[in-house]
Parts: sequence; C-alpha cells; structure tokens
Amino acid sequence: MSFEFPKLPPLRIGTFIGILHLFVGLLGAGILTVFSLYFIYKGSEQVNLREIKDLAFVIGNGLEHPLMDLQSGVVNTSQIDDAMTTYLRTRPEIGYSILTPSGTVILTSHPPRTAIAIDARAPEIVAASRSLIGQSIRPGSVERRVVYVASPIEHDNLLSGILVLAVPLDTMMASTYRTMLLMSIIALLIVAFTVFEGWLGSIYISKPLASLSKVAALLSQGDMTARADLGGPVEVKNLAQTLNEMADRVQRSLESMRAFVANASHELRTPLTTIKLQVGALSDGACQDREVAGHFLAQIEGEIDRLNDMVNDMLDLSQIEAGVELVDRQPVNISELAEEVTAFWQARSLQAGLTLTLTEDSTPAMVSGDPQRFRQLFDNLLDNAVKNTNPGGKIEIAIQCCDPGDRNRLCQTVRIEVRDTGIGIAPEHLPNIFDRFYRIEMRRRAKKSVSENTAAKSVGSGLGLAIAHSIVLAHGGEIGVTSQPGIGTTFWVEFPAI
Ligand code: ADP
Repeated sequence: MSFEFPKLPPLRIGTFIGILHLFVGLLGAGILTVFSLYFIYKGSEQVNLREIKDLAFVIGNGLEHPLMDLQSGVVNTSQIDDAMTTYLRTRPEIGYSILTPSGTVILTSHPPRTAIAIDARAPEIVAASRSLIGQSIRPGSVERRVVYVASPIEHDNLLSGILVLAVPLDTMMASTYRTMLLMSIIALLIVAFTVFEGWLGSIYISKPLASLSKVAALLSQGDMTARADLGGPVEVKNLAQTLNEMADRVQRSLESMRAFVANASHELRTPLTTIKLQVGALSDGACQDREVAGHFLAQIEGEIDRLNDMVNDMLDLSQIEAGVELVDRQPVNISELAEEVTAFWQARSLQAGLTLTLTEDSTPAMVSGDPQRFRQLFDNLLDNAVKNTNPGGKIEIAIQCCDPGDRNRLCQTVRIEVRDTGIGIAPEHLPNIFDRFYRIEMRRRAKKSVSENTAAKSVGSGLGLAIAHSIVLAHGGEIGVTSQPGIGTTFWVEFPAI
C-alpha cells in the first residue's frame, strides 16, 4: 500500500514548508497549550478553594468564644473585627461577614475588601446552617463572579453563628492567570520559532534547487559552461552533481562532434578539390587527348573510391558509437573467426611478400557480440599491419585465454594480438593513434605501400583504428598498442569471455 500525497496547487518550497510548519506548530503547541491551561486552571481553582475552606474552618472554630462574648456584651464588634483582621493578615483580598444562625449580619468587612452580597438562601449559607462548610461561586455586589465559603460557628454543638468568607474569583486566580499568560506566550513563541525554523529549512532546500533550475535553464539555452553549486541537502547535492556530470558529457560530445565535423569536412575537401580540378581540366579541352582524358578519369575514379571508403567508415563509426548494431549480441568463437580471417588475409600477405601465422590456445575463446564487427576489427588491424610492413616481414595473430585467479572458469578474458615486424610507430604518435582522422605523416607512406597492389586502401581515411577502438569499447573490451620504430608493432585487444 503506497501513500498518495494529496494534489496541491503549485507552491514555492518556502511557502509550502512555512504553511506546513505553521500547521504543525499550531496543532502541536496549540493542542498542548489548551489542555495544559485547562488542567492548570482547574487544579489551581481546587487548591485555592481548599485553602479558603480550611481558613474558614479554622476562623469559624476560633470565633466560638469571641461570638459568645459578643452576644453576652463582654466584647464589642470592633474587637471582633480586630480579631478577623489578625486572622486574615496574610489574605487581605478576602472579605468576611459574620451572621446570626437566622442569617442576620452581625459584622461585615469594609472596602477595599470584597463587597459581599449576603443572601440567606445562598447554597453556602444553607450548608453552614446545617453545620457543614459550604461554597458557591455567584455574583457579588460589585464583581460578577465571587467565591463564597461559609463555615458554621458552633458552641456546645449548637450553631451560634455563620462565618462567610468571600473573594472575587479573578483575584483568587490572579497568579494562575499570570502563569497561564506566560504559558500562552511560550506556546506562541514555539509556533513562531517552528515557522521561522521551517522558513530557514526551506531556504536551505529551495536555494540550491533554485540555482539548479537556473543552471538547467542556462544549459537548455545552450550555455554548456553553466555548472550547479554543490550545496544543500544530500539529495539536492547528488542531483546537482549528476546534472554537472551530464553537462560535462554533453559538452564533451558536442566538442567531439564539432571536431568530427571539422575533420570530416577537411578530409572530404581534398578529394573533392582534386575531382573539381580534373573535371575542369577535362572540360577545358583535356578530353580531346584520349590518353590524358583516360588518366584524369582514372584519377577521378580513384578519388571517388576514396570518398566512398571515407563515407562508409564515417557511417560505420557513427553506427558503432550509437550502438545500433549491438542490439542483437550473440556468442562468437574468436578462435574460429581468427582462422577464417587468417585464411582470407593469407593470399594478400603472400602477395605482399609477408608471412601470416595464427597461434591460438586449445581453449575455445568465446565472447559475446556482433560477429561482423569482430571481423571488421581483425580486418582493420591486419590491413594496417600489411600496409606498414616491408616485404619479407612477418605478421602474427595470437588468440589467448587469460584466467587471472579464477579456477572455476576456463577463460575469463580473451586476448587478441596482431603483431607485425613492420616500420613501427614513433612514441609521439602512440597517444593519438586511436583518434579519428589521425594519420602519421604522408612522408612515411612514400615507402611503397604493399596494399596498393591489393584491395586495401593506399591512403587510409585515418578512421580504421578509431573504428577498431569503438568496436572494442562497444563490446566492453580494451585495446592498446606497443610499438618500436624499425622493429614492429603489436595491437592487443581484450574482451570479457563468456
Ligand atoms: P588508416 O585507415 O589511414 O590506416 P588508421 O586509423 O587505421 O588509419 O591508422 C592511423 C595511423 O596509424 C596510420 O597513419 C597508420 O600509418 C598508423 N598505423 C596503424 N597501424 C600501424 C602499424 N601496424 N604499423 C605502423 N603504423 C601503423
């Protein structure tokens, strides 16, 4: 079961996180505060009432004799009032009344104490007349809500009077209200802090995202130098890194595409210029001379063949790099293929005065891939070997199975080597040898090319090794070269075996 996030109108991250935190803050701090305030209020009300009831009980007991003395005229009301003032010294906000059992007021406190509204039918007075301590919250003569507590004054178990203590509810709860106000302020501060913290969090997330979207916009407008800052949360940082890597790759492939187009145009221009010059010469009258015309036409045909080869190589290269023809991979026995290739190239090698041999392991070297492309790889390497080896030289194809440390499999890596005893490649050329259109200077080729007598090209397109390199990479392999000028060259290729 997966959670579906409800559909929301498009919001900025800051707004969304702000609203979310406000909601969570209000809900969390709000509910907690309301409950706490309610329980604090109720608890404090109970405690205060209990205190006033205890006080009423103590004073009621203490007034037993003074009231008898008042009734018998031994003391007067002002002496009783003095006694009450002493009792209530620490609670000046509490007002009092002393009543006869029938409810007549004998003595009452004066302002600023609570203005008491005595009502003989009030529940606390009814309870006290039954020798109980009663309480009620009802309007006073000034305040709207006054807490009344009445305690019986008894002498020899007979009711001799009633003491009423009264305090306005708001006065009684004043310190509780202050606590509640403080708690509410703290709750509001928590909500404000939650929203602020949410806002800060949203900046932390939204800022790098905004920079990412800016960079993505720049890239889409063609500014391939734009790169995202690697800041913010891990996920955003990873996204920025991926975007940067993607931009690097796109930039590299654009640059290589531009270089390819520039090189290709340059390479195509030479034969085209030659053809144009020769066609011009023919139309200027060279065609009158059959021999000259025949010579020019043969040259034009040669250039057209060269153009054709070059265009085919370019197409091959682009198809291999696009991976178009590797969709249908199949197991290929490289040993068998090498045997076929050797047989095919035997005649050409002999014609060029070269010896071609094949050495292979007894283990069948199986790899997965496109057999046509493997064939093309062999052809390109052998064509180069034949073209660059002087008559009397040797070319050797070696197929090996390399099994580094794996006892369970017979063949882990298939290694192909094409070795020749040819003119070799100078060290300065080796790093670029697999680049497209890279050809070692034509002077070197002034040496009689054996392939001129064969089907192989006399002047290559400079794409043969680039194609070989692409074929190897497309099959997950590796290619390399070692060479010593004047001694010979070895091209090696390794493929993962199956
Ligand atoms: P091309 O199709 O023109 O031969 P390649 O890409 O096949 O182009 O080769 C690039 C360059 O490497 C060529 O100029 C060639 O002279 C040189 N080269 C390739 N193979 C060998 C070799 N076995 N010995 C010496 N030079 C070689």
